[in-house]
Amino acid sequence: MREFRNLVGGALVEAADGRTLDSVNPATGETWARVPRGGREDAERAVAAARAAAPKWAGMPALGRAHFLRKVADVFASNAQELAEIETRDNGRILRDTLKRDLPGMTFLWQIAAGQTLDAVKGDSVVLGPDTWGFTRREPYGVVLGIIPWNSPISTFSAKAAYALAAGNTVIIKPAEQASASVLRLGELLADVLPPGVLNIVSGLGEEVGDALVRHRGVNKISLTGSTETGQIITRASADALKPLTFELGGKSPNIVFADADLDAAALGVTVNSIYTGNAGQVCVAGSRILIQRPIWDEMLERIKSAAGGLVLGEPLDMATTMGPIVSRPQFERVVSYLKTEADLVFGGRYGSEVVPALPGGYWVEPTLYTTTDNTLRICQEEVFGPVAVAIPFDTDDEALAISNDSTYGLAAGLWTRDLGRVQRFVRDLDSGTVWVNTFRQMPPGLPFGGVKDSGYGHDAVLAYTREKAAIIQT
Ligand code: NAD
Repeated sequence: MREFRNLVGGALVEAADGRTLDSVNPATGETWARVPRGGREDAERAVAAARAAAPKWAGMPALGRAHFLRKVADVFASNAQELAEIETRDNGRILRDTLKRDLPGMTFLWQIAAGQTLDAVKGDSVVLGPDTWGFTRREPYGVVLGIIPWNSPISTFSAKAAYALAAGNTVIIKPAEQASASVLRLGELLADVLPPGVLNIVSGLGEEVGDALVRHRGVNKISLTGSTETGQIITRASADALKPLTFELGGKSPNIVFADADLDAAALGVTVNSIYTGNAGQVCVAGSRILIQRPIWDEMLERIKSAAGGLVLGEPLDMATTMGPIVSRPQFERVVSYLKTEADLVFGGRYGSEVVPALPGGYWVEPTLYTTTDNTLRICQEEVFGPVAVAIPFDTDDEALAISNDSTYGLAAGLWTRDLGRVQRFVRDLDSGTVWVNTFRQMPPGLPFGGVKDSGYGHDAVLAYTREKAAIIQT
């Protein structure tokens, strides 16, 4: 059994009252680690540590902060295998993704953030008269709270911590109770790399330590990646202090395939690279609604079935595995509840031990596809967060746009076509934070990533962790 501790003020500590949470390996259903179950006192200590470290970190020259962030990038690079394995064991995200995609990507992200420390101190100036000029100063907020979900802890940790630190803030990260281990392991590795208190990590339940941190007057800005409901709760809880918020929330992203598309690329793009990915559909941008133009309806369903049939479900630590389990029993039950739908089943629909008999305790759901023409169904409107997609036919561009935008969410969309005029129109008219054309799920650092409508607002980037002050000087 692995035991992990919080990182507070540079020290690795248990929860103030010694309580713990079990961390379950979703491929086996067995508890493999214990993590601290923080509470109000842990929130107090983390905020005090972050506040104590803030003046020196904010006052450090940008190049000094860059030096520290490059050292963090080195920690990611030299511990990639161990970190990837911990995350895979903790949340079931296949090792092919954590090791080959997340760790190299996040090493790069910390290097980029190191290079952006200078952007965080650049301002504008304006000459107002012979003796008067004005200029802007970018300043850090102070203490930033990053609240992250369980599906990609190392990636969401990095997107918040790297940019917030680059901008001169000190940081508290609250990982998700279902999968905190990889982030807590990072805390162990970074305890001696960053000055004490600059980065703090406190695990525990959202409604306990999470809520205490959200309400704390010593926290100056909050960035949440999580569900829309949690975004609404945090908005209310932080309203009295008018805290600036960044929300990357849920999605119900359309993946729209036109008859003129490269159907080989589209079939992979709407299945393996989208909804039935290594994270078993537990991806905020999952293309869970597949819109198919009628002339290619039958052919695309066949191609999707064949691509999904090639997936290998099983032990996520095995590099041959291409789809893992659902993260936890409650989430598994939630996904299974969507399998009772009025839509027509094309393939899949099985769950539990019969899907992977070798690992009967795991939370398995088969890649599943339904079809319907009724976009009002629950399966078309609600985020399943599992390997369950629904295909919807359409005839015209107008119809495809209308169905796509008929959603409370607006996180991402995929478009498969060779028609450039159509691309222009859809990029403009889709209600969505990102539009991918003839590709899916690429999220390069340097481009904003975030949503509209119930998918949130703002995004994690260096300038998003600064505020501007104006100065007007007359001599
Ligand atoms: P969740 O909202 O239940 O939990 C996310 C985090 O919020 C966890 O750390 C949790 O402990 C914390 N939390 C919950 N209640 C809280 C409260 N009252 N106060 C403070 N913190 C609280 O989400 P989840 O189930 O862990 O993750 C799945 C959701 O995350 C999905 O909706 C998914 O789409 C979304 N997600 C979005 C993105 C994105 O970038 N848009 C990326 C990944 C996941």
